[in-house]
Amino acid sequence: MIDLHSHSTISDGLLSPTELVRHAHTKGIKVLSLTDHDDVEGLKEATSEAKLLGMHLIHGVEISVTWKRATIHIVGLNVDSENKTLLQGLSSIRDGRFERAKQMAHALGQIGIKGSLEGALKYAKSGILGRTHFARFLVDTGHAKDVRAVFKNYLVKGKPGFIEHTWTNLENALTWIHESGGIAAIAHPARYDLGKNNLLAFLSEFKELGGQGIEVISGSHTTEQSLKFERIADDYEFLASIGSDYHGPGISYREMGSLPKLPETCVPIWKTWNEVNALLN
Ligand code: AMP
Ligand code: MN
Ligand code: MN
Ligand code: MN
Repeated sequence: MIDLHSHSTISDGLLSPTELVRHAHTKGIKVLSLTDHDDVEGLKEATSEAKLLGMHLIHGVEISVTWKRATIHIVGLNVDSENKTLLQGLSSIRDGRFERAKQMAHALGQIGIKGSLEGALKYAKSGILGRTHFARFLVDTGHAKDVRAVFKNYLVKGKPGFIEHTWTNLENALTWIHESGGIAAIAHPARYDLGKNNLLAFLSEFKELGGQGIEVISGSHTTEQSLKFERIADDYEFLASIGSDYHGPGISYREMGSLPKLPETCVPIWKTWNEVNALLN
């Protein structure tokens, strides 16, 4: 009934904010967070639609961070989407995204794939331009059979079109989230290739900077991975979050409303959110 990680056309999802909320409603979700990459533009529309449907929309964002050369995603929940610090920070990430996109297009051009910047822009409805938009262009021009195949053969380390990019740092991301009244959670923690020691160092640094949450249940986690992060949440006294990371039909890890429940041992990140608990009970 609760899903705290999802995407709309404002970032790289396939459904508009309204369509996404309607979709969540049909799947029995009562509390949804829209967490577009580096952009909060869709929250107003999503909030209106959620109201009409008797749902609760948590204002969220998924911020791209570089930590020791690794890309890490931090979800901010219950942020004030009009906060200047947050808006300026996100805007600077989007500028960086556009510069990266130009470089990606140049790199693809060098292996004979022309027009990918314009091609990717056709799929981007709003201010953020990401690899998923390039992936759709590559699928539609016959360079890969689906988006998943693109992320095997292009745009990833060692493959054509990959550009190493430096996002904002962890401290900035947490500062923006906290200054806008939100709470930070590490998104899909099993998806980072950090190695054991770096993972522990990252978790400690996140905690020291005031980070409080972690996605124990994620659409991209296996059962074993959820168990691992259930233990880590317990060890580090993190609040536990749950999110499908839904991007739309056909390109998502998991359907909304199909995730396992949070394990009993976890303290839910929404524990003190009265309005949310009233809806869930
Ligand atoms: P970006 O932030 O522009 O580098 O793009 C990252 C996004 O690409 C993620 O949020 C996913 O939506 C998508 N993505 C990354 N890896 C994969 C994959 N293996 N299969 C499908 N989509 C992926
Ligand atoms: Mn995405
Ligand atoms: Mn992510
Ligand atoms: Mn996501």
